[in-house]
Amino acid sequence: MSIDFVEALSTDNLTAIKAAPKTDVHCHAFFSARRESVEGWVGHPLTEPPLKMKAVEGMMAYADAVLAPHIKHREGFEFVAVAAMDNAVQDGVVILEMSFDIRLLKFYSGGLTELRSFIEILVEQYREKVDLRPELGFARECANDPKWMESAHEAIELDIFQSIDLYSHQEACAPEAVQSLYAKARAAGMKLKAHVGEFGGAEEVRRTIEVLDLDEVQHGIGAAESVEVMRWLSEKQIQLNVCPTSNVMLGGVSELAAHPIRVLFDNGVPVTINTDDLMIFGQSVSEEYRNLYQVGVFSAQELEDIRRASLATVGARLPRPYIKEE
Ligand SMILES: [Zn+2]
Repeated sequence: MSIDFVEALSTDNLTAIKAAPKTDVHCHAFFSARRESVEGWVGHPLTEPPLKMKAVEGMMAYADAVLAPHIKHREGFEFVAVAAMDNAVQDGVVILEMSFDIRLLKFYSGGLTELRSFIEILVEQYREKVDLRPELGFARECANDPKWMESAHEAIELDIFQSIDLYSHQEACAPEAVQSLYAKARAAGMKLKAHVGEFGGAEEVRRTIEVLDLDEVQHGIGAAESVEVMRWLSEKQIQLNVCPTSNVMLGGVSELAAHPIRVLFDNGVPVTINTDDLMIFGQSVSEEYRNLYQVGVFSAQELEDIRRASLATVGARLPRPYIKEE
């Protein structure tokens, strides 16, 4: 029996939900694998994260205490990246825009060349199953460090990163601090993204988009507080790459049923559904779709429309059949 995505959601058939092709365009490589994968590797269980953490600081407190000791080295990072690719394949993700933080260079004595080889091998190994599009990840606090800024400029010249993303502590730097880096990425033909509006601030979302000439926004849910900003996003067709469970666990949203992705969608803002940090938030893309359906944020048909639109915007060629037998 073959069933489509709408039926898969309405009958709660997770296997069939997973079988439908999906994108994950908001995913950080360092925490991109399932925690279970890391547990299997280290050989013991890891403490689960609290259901609610205090924003990025709370998340990092958990990650530094529980996860980082096991993966904060080259071997650990590479294990996670490979496991993440397997997790993505199992989840039906066919396009994966995964960000590689410039500070990963700390793990590579051979510098960018060595990091690039690892990423190239990863892309090549999974080419038949998932289209990995490496993204350059830059934390805001690195904008104040000439060494990391220089490395990021060099990374753009490598011609391996297809997009760039800016994240971490909002107050660490204004978007102007990375304007020249983003101009360079633009000139290199890269897609421009940044984290903004994760914890409110519609105007900040608009300002960051304008200063950096962003194509897409990571989170951006704060835009939902302003009809005017949503109209502006809709007119410009700027996509928000939303991670529902991450928003709930880090306190940007009180509960999933009240997630502003509904308001954004109703106001014509393009949205996608993503994992953020699978190791911490524990929900794959398929599970995020399923959760949004089950709490009544979207109908199955609306989720199908979001899924198809997310594939269309990345130009997915759909390497596997849309309908799969049960
Ligand atoms: Zn993120």
